[in-house]
Amino acid sequence: MAYGLAAFSSRPQPAYSQGPTAHSPPFHAIYKGMELIPNNEEVLNILRKTGALKEGHFVLPSGRHTDHLLQMPLAMRYYREAKTLSVGLSRLLRSDPEIARHLPNVSIVSPATGGIPVAYGLGEALRASQIYWAERVDKTRLEFRQFMEVHENEQCIVVDDILRTGHMLSQLRDLLLSRGAKVLALAVIVYQPNVETVDLSPLPVYSLARVQYTYWENEEACPLCKKGVAAVSVKV
Ligand SMILES: [Zn+2]
Repeated sequence: MAYGLAAFSSRPQPAYSQGPTAHSPPFHAIYKGMELIPNNEEVLNILRKTGALKEGHFVLPSGRHTDHLLQMPLAMRYYREAKTLSVGLSRLLRSDPEIARHLPNVSIVSPATGGIPVAYGLGEALRASQIYWAERVDKTRLEFRQFMEVHENEQCIVVDDILRTGHMLSQLRDLLLSRGAKVLALAVIVYQPNVETVDLSPLPVYSLARVQYTYWENEEACPLCKKGVAAVSVKV
């Protein structure tokens, strides 16, 4: 779809025919609002303009080489752009009747610091009851702060700035489910799938933009190195 709805959502969407509910705006407001969802190219323009998306020749911390570098925190540092992106994403979430019927009694939960500005933007737009995030305990484990209680049947939307492998999102989903919460959906600004991306179905995944860039394993495999293009080493 034009505004990058999730590739693997199984729900009918957007559900204009559902009409108004107690917590969602009336039909015409939803329809009008959809025009304010930035499309794929508009999102990429915001990312370029803010320096979050760069083209060139980069060597990543993993040793891989690439011709595109995407660093979402560079976009989220600007309040206006961050708001445009998170409000756009909130409109996609509102279009899901399963989410709309629970609003505003939902928690927005992020697996990492990169997702916190997105979580607050969504939290404000959806009038969510809570916004919180997990901490990384070690390489394979996320945990919530002590006294951060997840309630039985708490309705959660798991949020991050970008979905690549989905490992952290799936870890957070599992952590929430293990505490008795319900996860309604995953939402990210950018969906950048690769061969390692985990299958998150049956949860719907909402994203504003989808991108796919090329990565080369090392210098020998990189055509830019072969052409002698100077590379920038990426630290974080
Ligand atoms: Zn290279």
